Amino acid sequence: MRIFTASLATETNTFSPVPTDVDSFRAAFYAGPGAHPETPTLCSSPVPILRRRGRAEGFEVIEGTSCWAEPAGLIQRQTYEALRDTILAELEAALPVHGVVLGLHGAMVAQGYDDPEGDFLARVRAIVGPDVTVAAEFDPHSHLSPLRVEKLDILATFLEFPHTDFEERGEHVVDLALRTIRGEIRPIISTFDCKMIGLYPTSREPMRGFVDRLKAMQKDTILSVSVIHGFMAGDVPEMGTRIVVVTDGNKEKGERLAETLGHELYALRGTTAMPIVDTETGLDRAAELVRGGTGKPVVVADVWDNPGGGVAGDATHILCRMVERGMDRIAVATIWDPIAVSFCHAAGEGAEIELRFGGKSSRHGGAPFDARVTVLRTVAEGWQSFRASRVTLGRAAVVRLVGTEIDVVLITSRTQTYEPDIFSNLGIDFAAKDVLLVKSTNHFHAGFQPVASEIVYVAAPTSYPTDPATTPYVKASLNLWPRVADPLGLGA
Ligand SMILES: [Zn+2]
Repeated sequence: MRIFTASLATETNTFSPVPTDVDSFRAAFYAGPGAHPETPTLCSSPVPILRRRGRAEGFEVIEGTSCWAEPAGLIQRQTYEALRDTILAELEAALPVHGVVLGLHGAMVAQGYDDPEGDFLARVRAIVGPDVTVAAEFDPHSHLSPLRVEKLDILATFLEFPHTDFEERGEHVVDLALRTIRGEIRPIISTFDCKMIGLYPTSREPMRGFVDRLKAMQKDTILSVSVIHGFMAGDVPEMGTRIVVVTDGNKEKGERLAETLGHELYALRGTTAMPIVDTETGLDRAAELVRGGTGKPVVVADVWDNPGGGVAGDATHILCRMVERGMDRIAVATIWDPIAVSFCHAAGEGAEIELRFGGKSSRHGGAPFDARVTVLRTVAEGWQSFRASRVTLGRAAVVRLVGTEIDVVLITSRTQTYEPDIFSNLGIDFAAKDVLLVKSTNHFHAGFQPVASEIVYVAAPTSYPTDPATTPYVKASLNLWPRVADPLGLGA
């Protein structure tokens, strides 16, 4: 048995001013055939999983290229086509194969391509023919086109948000692919369009219970259940929430279950997101907690200045308001600013300099922050964990605002904040701080919840399209909640 595996992934915020080119992939993650590390990344986990299982179970795995770019704006056409064609050429060279297992994200958009994954999968199918098993793992913040469903035998997403189960779901997709190739199952994909878009964190109810039920359903002829949350910053025709059910040869059962679950999720619309407050309310709460002295830092999440959603991640608004309010003992991760990082490296550790940082990518997230700072730390490459994966910060620096205990992590490779080791790896004693300001919508939750006295979700000014009811979509369907109160016509 011979199986080909590769990964091509990013998440495109079509409203973002930050373009995506081949350097964006090379800066974040790029591994040629055989060069994938033993540790997984968010979207490439099928590659190391298949490598390990091939060795253990005695089948041959042919690895193609794996790459990931931090979410940003439209992918340059030449970049998408070159990466696609690289992997397709690797697949052709690997023939004959019995299966293809891909790590995709599902929310890529390239210049001239609203559905790059559909285009990619159609070409994969054309190369291998109708009888070879083609499976893919997706991020739930993706778009589901009929073309993808048509070209795939197996499709599953991560179920958790934060995506703490990306390896588990990679194993799940690999398992289903192997069982299909061995003739044990005959997967059929069913989908249901919920005609809604929202935030569905599984770190709280009601999604916690919903997803636990989905997990329990995956047995016997129900091979797999997934929720495509959708990605509201991607203006493409298929933007929105979907249910995916994969059954063992039972189309009717799959359709019925997808519809039932779709209606259940639809009934939860408007109740799933975490409470998000404005900056002043959030900082009032943070200050109150600090005064109360719980012994643990308050975590303030800058929910929408999240590079993981495709914005730059250089907003200064919340930091600025914290300083104006006289708050102290703060650690900030992160502010993306390659110029400021180069200044810090040139000045050297221990230097005290006038530094302007952040606030450069758009007028929405606050002005550049000007301060006298001490350069505490400079590193050629900073990093943080996300479960078993290792996420680069690129060249990085830590500065402290003079006269305070406010430390700011400045980075060159955009990334959202995942785990507290983003601070400790750079020598910041995060547990001794009063407030940790992180840039992430919810992925930080798994890592930071255990070290936080409380998590305060703050919606600060941003260029991110945060309200789908008013976002000026051109390509997305407008017949979806929250633009329409009851698009499925099922009543309140
Ligand atoms: Zn996601």
